[in-house]
Amino acid sequence: MALRDRFCRVCAALCSKAGPVYPLSRLPAYVEKASECLGMQIDLERDEAEGLPGVVCKRCCQLLHSYSDFHRRVSEGAAKLGRILAMRKEKTLEQQQQQKQQQQQQDSGVQSLTLT
Ligand SMILES: [Zn+2]
Repeated sequence: MALRDRFCRVCAALCSKAGPVYPLSRLPAYVEKASECLGMQIDLERDEAEGLPGVVCKRCCQLLHSYSDFHRRVSEGAAKLGRILAMRKEKTLEQQQQQKQQQQQQDSGVQSLTLT
């Protein structure tokens, strides 16, 4: 068995111990997620030229899948909180403007009273 098929490309576990392995050439979505979530650049051609493994173990498949969901959840959560904060800020500004207008109306009322 060649080195390329003996170790997991992600965790370097020995494939015979890690159970089933999957060829990365058949998992383009996995390669993309590894880049997006782990910052791991897997270039299949370059890896092959360098002799790096071309397979991934079942555990790493499952873990990255879960982590990818979590990663997406975190991004969506941050975006949602940003929208909520922006809405609150807008509401506060509106309230401040209303209070300012009311204050101006009261002041002009007082002025017209004092003038008469
Ligand atoms: Zn692995």
